[in-house]
Amino acid sequence: MSVHFPRRGLCLVLAAPSGAGKTSISRSLLAADPGLHLSISATTRAPRAGETEGVHYFFRDRPAFDAMIAADELLEWADVFGQRYGTPRAPVSAALARGEDVLFDIDWQGHRQLRATLPGDVVGVFIMPPDFAALETRLRARGDNENDIARRMAAAEAEISHAREFDYCVVNDALADAIATVAAILRAARAATARQAWLPA
Ligand code: 5GP
Repeated sequence: MSVHFPRRGLCLVLAAPSGAGKTSISRSLLAADPGLHLSISATTRAPRAGETEGVHYFFRDRPAFDAMIAADELLEWADVFGQRYGTPRAPVSAALARGEDVLFDIDWQGHRQLRATLPGDVVGVFIMPPDFAALETRLRARGDNENDIARRMAAAEAEISHAREFDYCVVNDALADAIATVAAILRAARAATARQAWLPA
């Protein structure tokens, strides 16, 4: 953040059908950019192998998750694959106020709610898998079970039907290219005149 030219932070939302490569893209962006922070979601689903509490998700049982909803601690939440996922509000508000940017790995429902709650602060990027065969291969490589794969393939089609609600659509047929494109979108969004609070009215 520039001290002399303070800018309001922005919300970069990456959405995609599971297995489209969204996690690889977000990891790479976060590693390259100290001004970008990942929003860590709360979820009722069980941790997968290798997932750590507070790093990948805040894993909560249903009563604890619903208590967060009741206390208005979530900026948005949604049912995805029969589990609840939501974005804790406090870290996002704090980062935006500091002029830092937040990356969201959420679904189309979360993107829609975030746009309504934080109008003008959201840049939405939809990541498309190059084709459905590639999507299935990626889900298998990740070790998801057969039931999950079938469910997620059906859900992928539903997710793609919302792609037009996003500002950008990036086809992930070559990971390095997709990363560069999303980084360019972020770079341009940071320079938008609407975000430069210091400019004369
Ligand atoms: P997974 O279980 O594979 O980690 O995530 C399943 C889906 O839930 C993904 O599409 C992911 O982007 C979405 N998701 C993760 N966190 C949130 C969240 O906080 N809010 C919403 N609306 N979706 C989320």
